[in-house]
Amino acid sequence: MFSPSHTFIDIPFNLRHTCWFCGEPSSVTLEFPHHDNIASSLNHPLLSLPACRECRSFKTPRHTRSIWVLRAHIKQALITKYTKHLAVGENWTEQELQESEFCGALLGGFGESAWKMYLIAKQRVAFAGWPLSIDDQMLDILDDTSSFAYNGTQFPSLSACIDFLSEGSGIDKELLTQLVEIVTPARFGYAHQIAKINKRPSPVQRRQIIEEITQQEIESQQIEAEHQAQLRIDSAIVDVNLTGATAPAFAIQWAVRNQANSLMTLSELEDDFFDQFAHLGGAAVFHAYNGLQLYLQARGDADWVKEHDPNRALWPE
Ligand SMILES: [Zn+2]
Repeated sequence: MFSPSHTFIDIPFNLRHTCWFCGEPSSVTLEFPHHDNIASSLNHPLLSLPACRECRSFKTPRHTRSIWVLRAHIKQALITKYTKHLAVGENWTEQELQESEFCGALLGGFGESAWKMYLIAKQRVAFAGWPLSIDDQMLDILDDTSSFAYNGTQFPSLSACIDFLSEGSGIDKELLTQLVEIVTPARFGYAHQIAKINKRPSPVQRRQIIEEITQQEIESQQIEAEHQAQLRIDSAIVDVNLTGATAPAFAIQWAVRNQANSLMTLSELEDDFFDQFAHLGGAAVFHAYNGLQLYLQARGDADWVKEHDPNRALWPE
């Protein structure tokens, strides 16, 4: 029912019959908040939005504090309702589904419609609506929900994503949760991969996997720290300018550490040098190497070293 206290949001012309929550055709209006008693705690006006019947039908908590929280609840409800269809995409690729249908044994008639249902459900969950405004005044600056994107799907939160992946797919929720804690959400795909190949672990297996991955992470952090130490330049080392070239401090440091103290030893380690500094780009590495060659050549002259080498203290006598 239309209430005069709720204001209709602006609707772009091309989306005038679209559910703001899921992108399906809209046939009804959703008013938020539904109960006047929470209106005073809202940080945006009372809103009317175009919606589909299904999105409007979901029960959501009475204390929902903003339209964006409501949207997160509705997406969660969609995920829960369509987990079976979404999980199809998690477990099988489209090709696998077709092949399984071809041989007829695995899924029976299920394969034909399952992939379509999966794509539709995924699209509805991922649909981001359009920026909210009333009479061209934007409301989006007030969005206070954080969401989590994985594999092109937007989830209301990290834990909603974990819930979805573990429901109905045999992935162990506790294992995935702990793995994400260890490897961080930034490497969610890696954690998911490990959880996928260790479906339905026993408590003992789960503990072993966690220990293994923890150990792996500690080791790779140590390697990374050593690598950083290698790259850190000792502030006592300075660039050396030679005729037509510069031997940069980082290259000199590398030479000292690798005991490349003559042109001959340097040329033996040439490949190592180029590998170590490949991240700088070909031209920069070449210039550094060339500068280092000239520097070592100059160091062949004891008088030059005494007079001109600012780094002479670094080298063994
Ligand atoms: Zn909808």
